[in-house]
Amino acid sequence: MNTARTTLCCLLLGTLLVFAGDFGHAEPTLLGEPCAPHAAALPVATASPQAKQQPTIVFQFNTIQALLDGQYDADFTCGELRQRGNFGIGTFNALNGEMLVLNGQVWRVPGSGIPERVADHERTPFATVMNFRANHTHELRGIQSIEQFRKKIDELLPNRQDMFALSLRGDFAYVKTRSVPKQTAPYRRLVDIVPTQPTFERHNVRGMLIGFWFPASLEGVNVSGLHLHFLSDDHRFGGHLLECRFDRASLEICQGDELLIRPAPPHDTKHDAGNRQQLRDELNKVER
Ligand SMILES: [Zn+2]
Repeated sequence: MNTARTTLCCLLLGTLLVFAGDFGHAEPTLLGEPCAPHAAALPVATASPQAKQQPTIVFQFNTIQALLDGQYDADFTCGELRQRGNFGIGTFNALNGEMLVLNGQVWRVPGSGIPERVADHERTPFATVMNFRANHTHELRGIQSIEQFRKKIDELLPNRQDMFALSLRGDFAYVKTRSVPKQTAPYRRLVDIVPTQPTFERHNVRGMLIGFWFPASLEGVNVSGLHLHFLSDDHRFGGHLLECRFDRASLEICQGDELLIRPAPPHDTKHDAGNRQQLRDELNKVER
Protein backbone atom coordinates (compact mmCIF):
# COMPACT_ATOMS: atom_id res chain seq x y z
CA MET A 1 0.00 0.00 0.00
CA ASN A 2 2.97 2.26 0.16
CA THR A 3 2.49 3.46 -3.34
CA ALA A 4 4.33 6.46 -4.67
CA ARG A 5 3.10 9.37 -2.71
CA THR A 6 1.33 12.18 -4.41
CA THR A 7 1.04 15.50 -2.68
CA LEU A 8 -1.09 18.13 -4.33
CA CYS A 9 -2.01 21.47 -2.92
CA CYS A 10 -5.07 23.12 -4.46
CA LEU A 11 -6.25 26.50 -3.34
CA LEU A 12 -9.98 26.35 -3.93
CA LEU A 13 -12.37 28.94 -2.58
CA GLY A 14 -10.20 29.61 0.41
CA THR A 15 -9.76 25.94 1.17
CA LEU A 16 -6.41 24.21 0.95
CA LEU A 17 -6.71 20.55 0.10
CA VAL A 18 -3.67 18.33 0.57
CA PHE A 19 -3.82 14.79 -0.69
CA ALA A 20 -1.56 13.13 1.82
CA GLY A 21 -1.61 9.69 0.34
CA ASP A 22 -3.09 7.36 -2.22
CA PHE A 23 -6.73 7.00 -1.22
CA GLY A 24 -7.22 4.12 -3.57
CA HIS A 25 -4.92 1.94 -1.52
CA ALA A 26 -5.59 -1.59 -0.46
CA GLU A 27 -6.54 -2.98 2.88
CA PRO A 28 -4.41 -1.68 5.76
CA THR A 29 -1.72 -4.04 6.92
CA LEU A 30 -1.30 -4.89 10.57
CA LEU A 31 2.15 -5.32 11.93
CA GLY A 32 2.65 -8.80 13.21
CA GLU A 33 5.88 -8.42 15.09
CA PRO A 34 6.43 -10.68 18.08
CA CYS A 35 5.36 -9.21 21.39
CA ALA A 36 7.88 -8.50 24.10
CA PRO A 37 6.86 -9.34 27.67
CA HIS A 38 6.47 -5.65 28.32
CA ALA A 39 5.10 -3.01 26.04
CA ALA A 40 3.42 -5.76 24.08
CA ALA A 41 0.93 -4.96 21.36
CA LEU A 42 -1.52 -7.53 20.13
CA PRO A 43 -3.29 -6.79 16.86
CA VAL A 44 -6.85 -7.99 17.38
CA ALA A 45 -8.88 -6.65 14.49
CA THR A 46 -8.80 -4.82 11.22
CA ALA A 47 -11.40 -3.31 8.93
CA SER A 48 -12.71 -4.92 5.80
CA PRO A 49 -11.43 -3.68 2.43
CA GLN A 50 -14.84 -2.09 1.86
CA ALA A 51 -14.25 0.18 4.85
CA LYS A 52 -11.55 2.13 2.95
CA GLN A 53 -13.38 2.73 -0.31
CA GLN A 54 -13.97 6.38 0.51
CA PRO A 55 -11.01 8.63 1.37
CA THR A 56 -10.92 9.60 5.02
CA ILE A 57 -10.60 13.36 5.35
CA VAL A 58 -8.78 15.09 8.17
CA PHE A 59 -10.09 18.63 8.56
CA GLN A 60 -7.92 21.31 10.05
CA PHE A 61 -8.62 24.93 10.87
CA ASN A 62 -5.48 27.04 10.37
CA THR A 63 -1.93 25.79 10.96
CA ILE A 64 0.40 25.27 13.90
CA GLN A 65 2.70 27.80 12.24
CA ALA A 66 -0.01 30.46 12.60
CA LEU A 67 -0.33 29.58 16.29
CA LEU A 68 3.42 29.90 16.73
CA ASP A 69 3.15 33.26 14.98
CA GLY A 70 0.80 34.45 17.73
CA GLN A 71 -2.51 34.11 15.90
CA TYR A 72 -4.57 33.14 18.93
CA ASP A 73 -7.94 34.44 17.71
CA ALA A 74 -10.09 33.54 14.71
CA ASP A 75 -13.73 33.48 13.70
CA PHE A 76 -14.23 29.75 13.30
CA THR A 77 -16.80 28.41 15.75
CA CYS A 78 -16.93 25.10 17.56
CA GLY A 79 -20.31 24.55 15.89
CA GLU A 80 -18.65 24.77 12.47
CA LEU A 81 -15.87 22.52 13.68
CA ARG A 82 -18.33 19.84 14.82
CA GLN A 83 -19.78 19.76 11.32
CA ARG A 84 -16.32 18.71 10.06
CA GLY A 85 -15.72 15.83 12.43
CA ASN A 86 -16.74 14.13 15.66
CA PHE A 87 -13.21 13.49 16.93
CA GLY A 88 -10.17 15.69 17.37
CA ILE A 89 -8.09 18.15 19.36
CA GLY A 90 -7.18 21.83 19.29
CA THR A 91 -7.36 24.97 21.35
CA PHE A 92 -9.68 27.98 21.78
CA ASN A 93 -9.48 31.68 21.11
CA ALA A 94 -7.05 33.44 23.46
CA LEU A 95 -5.52 29.97 23.98
CA ASN A 96 -8.25 29.38 26.55
CA GLY A 97 -7.52 25.74 27.30
CA GLU A 98 -6.91 22.43 25.55
CA MET A 99 -9.66 21.14 23.25
CA LEU A 100 -11.00 17.63 22.78
CA VAL A 101 -13.76 16.72 20.37
CA LEU A 102 -15.08 13.38 21.49
CA ASN A 103 -18.23 11.70 20.18
CA GLY A 104 -19.22 14.98 18.57
CA GLN A 105 -18.99 16.95 21.82
CA VAL A 106 -16.43 19.69 22.38
CA TRP A 107 -14.60 19.72 25.71
CA ARG A 108 -12.21 22.26 27.17
CA VAL A 109 -9.56 21.60 29.78
CA PRO A 110 -8.94 25.13 31.03
CA GLY A 111 -6.11 26.50 33.16
CA SER A 112 -7.89 25.13 36.24
CA GLY A 113 -7.49 21.60 34.87
CA ILE A 114 -11.20 20.82 35.34
CA PRO A 115 -12.85 19.85 32.01
CA GLU A 116 -16.03 21.57 30.86
CA ARG A 117 -18.39 21.28 27.91
CA VAL A 118 -18.03 24.04 25.32
CA ALA A 119 -20.87 25.82 23.54
CA ASP A 120 -21.07 25.98 19.74
CA HIS A 121 -20.57 29.76 19.63
CA GLU A 122 -17.05 29.57 21.11
CA ARG A 123 -14.21 29.99 18.62
CA THR A 124 -10.96 28.27 17.80
CA PRO A 125 -7.72 29.54 16.20
CA PHE A 126 -6.42 25.99 15.57
CA ALA A 127 -8.08 22.59 15.62
CA THR A 128 -7.94 19.24 13.80
CA VAL A 129 -10.95 16.93 13.51
CA MET A 130 -12.22 13.96 11.54
CA ASN A 131 -14.94 11.37 11.61
CA PHE A 132 -13.10 8.61 13.39
CA ARG A 133 -13.50 5.06 12.17
CA ALA A 134 -10.89 2.63 13.38
CA ASN A 135 -9.06 0.55 10.79
CA HIS A 136 -6.44 -0.85 13.17
CA THR A 137 -6.99 -2.02 16.74
CA HIS A 138 -4.32 -3.13 19.20
CA GLU A 139 -3.94 -3.96 22.86
CA LEU A 140 -1.03 -2.08 24.41
CA ARG A 141 0.50 -3.52 27.57
CA GLY A 142 3.08 -2.54 30.12
CA ILE A 143 3.78 1.04 29.07
CA GLN A 144 5.99 2.70 31.69
CA SER A 145 6.69 6.11 30.18
CA ILE A 146 5.63 8.39 27.37
CA GLU A 147 8.91 7.68 25.61
CA GLN A 148 8.08 3.99 25.59
CA PHE A 149 4.54 4.85 24.49
CA ARG A 150 5.79 6.98 21.57
CA LYS A 151 8.18 4.23 20.51
CA LYS A 152 5.40 1.66 20.55
CA ILE A 153 3.11 3.89 18.48
CA ASP A 154 5.92 4.41 15.99
CA GLU A 155 6.27 0.63 15.66
CA LEU A 156 2.55 0.12 15.15
CA LEU A 157 1.87 2.78 12.54
CA PRO A 158 1.57 1.24 9.07
CA ASN A 159 3.83 3.87 7.51
CA ARG A 160 5.61 7.17 8.20
CA GLN A 161 3.96 9.22 5.49
CA ASP A 162 0.23 9.32 6.18
CA MET A 163 -1.79 10.95 8.94
CA PHE A 164 -3.25 8.85 11.72
CA ALA A 165 -5.86 9.59 14.35
CA LEU A 166 -5.41 7.64 17.56
CA SER A 167 -7.77 6.78 20.40
CA LEU A 168 -6.52 4.95 23.47
CA ARG A 169 -8.90 3.82 26.22
CA GLY A 170 -7.83 2.26 29.45
CA ASP A 171 -7.15 2.36 33.17
CA PHE A 172 -4.08 4.53 33.52
CA ALA A 173 -1.77 4.07 36.50
CA TYR A 174 -0.53 7.61 36.02
CA VAL A 175 -1.24 10.55 33.72
CA LYS A 176 0.40 13.96 33.69
CA THR A 177 -1.11 16.75 31.61
CA ARG A 178 -0.89 20.48 31.11
CA SER A 179 -3.24 23.18 29.94
CA VAL A 180 -3.07 26.78 28.82
CA PRO A 181 -4.52 29.58 30.91
CA LYS A 182 -6.51 32.13 28.91
CA GLN A 183 -4.17 34.78 27.48
CA THR A 184 -4.73 38.51 27.23
CA ALA A 185 -3.48 40.79 24.47
CA PRO A 186 -0.81 41.79 23.69
CA TYR A 187 -0.11 38.11 23.35
CA ARG A 188 3.19 36.49 24.19
CA ARG A 189 4.78 33.90 21.93
CA LEU A 190 3.56 30.36 22.47
CA VAL A 191 7.08 29.20 23.22
CA ASP A 192 7.22 31.73 26.07
CA ILE A 193 3.80 30.77 27.45
CA VAL A 194 4.33 27.01 27.64
CA PRO A 195 6.91 27.04 30.47
CA THR A 196 4.41 28.88 32.66
CA GLN A 197 1.52 26.49 32.01
CA PRO A 198 0.04 24.60 34.96
CA THR A 199 0.49 20.82 35.01
CA PHE A 200 -1.82 18.23 36.52
CA GLU A 201 -1.28 14.67 37.71
CA ARG A 202 -3.63 11.83 38.43
CA HIS A 203 -3.05 8.24 39.56
CA ASN A 204 -5.35 5.34 38.74
CA VAL A 205 -7.61 7.17 36.37
CA ARG A 206 -9.82 5.69 33.67
CA GLY A 207 -10.15 7.68 30.51
CA MET A 208 -9.19 8.30 26.92
CA LEU A 209 -6.22 9.69 25.07
CA ILE A 210 -7.14 11.09 21.68
CA GLY A 211 -5.21 12.92 19.03
CA PHE A 212 -3.12 12.59 15.91
CA TRP A 213 0.20 11.46 14.49
CA PHE A 214 1.35 13.67 11.59
CA PRO A 215 4.30 12.95 9.30
CA ALA A 216 7.42 15.11 9.35
CA SER A 217 6.52 16.32 5.86
CA LEU A 218 3.61 18.28 7.39
CA GLU A 219 5.65 19.96 10.11
CA GLY A 220 4.50 23.55 10.39
CA VAL A 221 1.10 22.57 9.04
CA ASN A 222 0.37 20.50 12.14
CA VAL A 223 2.45 19.02 14.95
CA SER A 224 4.64 16.31 13.44
CA GLY A 225 4.69 13.10 15.43
CA LEU A 226 2.33 12.30 18.27
CA HIS A 227 0.03 14.91 19.84
CA LEU A 228 -2.55 13.63 22.34
CA HIS A 229 -5.05 15.06 24.82
CA PHE A 230 -6.55 13.19 27.78
CA LEU A 231 -10.07 13.21 29.23
CA SER A 232 -11.01 11.08 32.21
CA ASP A 233 -14.27 9.13 32.10
CA ASP A 234 -15.57 11.12 35.08
CA HIS A 235 -14.77 14.37 33.22
CA ARG A 236 -12.81 15.71 36.18
CA PHE A 237 -9.31 15.54 34.74
CA GLY A 238 -7.66 16.11 31.40
CA GLY A 239 -5.33 18.18 29.25
CA HIS A 240 -2.40 17.94 26.85
CA LEU A 241 -0.53 14.72 27.54
CA LEU A 242 2.94 15.02 29.07
CA GLU A 243 3.45 11.61 30.69
CA CYS A 244 1.60 8.35 31.22
CA ARG A 245 1.89 4.81 32.58
CA PHE A 246 -0.54 1.96 32.11
CA ASP A 247 -0.64 -1.82 32.20
CA ARG A 248 -3.20 -2.34 29.47
CA ALA A 249 -5.16 -0.13 27.09
CA SER A 250 -7.05 -0.47 23.83
CA LEU A 251 -5.65 1.48 20.91
CA GLU A 252 -7.67 2.34 17.82
CA ILE A 253 -6.02 3.91 14.78
CA CYS A 254 -7.81 5.63 11.92
CA GLN A 255 -5.75 6.47 8.87
CA GLY A 256 -6.39 9.87 7.31
CA ASP A 257 -6.05 9.97 3.54
CA GLU A 258 -6.55 13.65 2.76
CA LEU A 259 -5.97 16.83 4.69
CA LEU A 260 -8.44 19.66 4.22
CA ILE A 261 -7.19 22.97 5.58
CA ARG A 262 -9.36 26.01 6.15
CA PRO A 263 -6.92 28.94 6.52
CA ALA A 264 -7.74 31.79 8.86
CA PRO A 265 -7.93 35.28 7.35
CA PRO A 266 -4.69 37.27 7.33
CA HIS A 267 -3.88 38.86 10.62
CA ASP A 268 -1.47 41.35 12.08
CA THR A 269 1.42 39.03 12.84
CA LYS A 270 3.46 40.49 15.65
CA HIS A 271 5.90 37.64 15.73
CA ASP A 272 8.06 35.97 13.16
CA ALA A 273 8.46 32.28 13.80
CA GLY A 274 11.73 32.42 11.91
CA ASN A 275 13.43 29.65 10.00
CA ARG A 276 12.57 25.97 9.96
CA GLN A 277 15.10 25.04 12.62
CA GLN A 278 13.64 27.63 14.94
CA LEU A 279 10.15 26.29 14.17
CA ARG A 280 11.33 22.77 14.99
CA ASP A 281 12.88 23.94 18.25
CA GLU A 282 9.73 25.82 19.22
CA LEU A 283 7.45 22.90 18.35
CA ASN A 284 9.58 20.63 20.51
CA LYS A 285 9.17 23.00 23.44
CA VAL A 286 5.46 23.63 22.85
CA GLU A 287 3.96 20.28 21.96
CA ARG A 288 6.27 17.55 23.24
ZN1 LIG B 1 -2.09 19.80 22.84
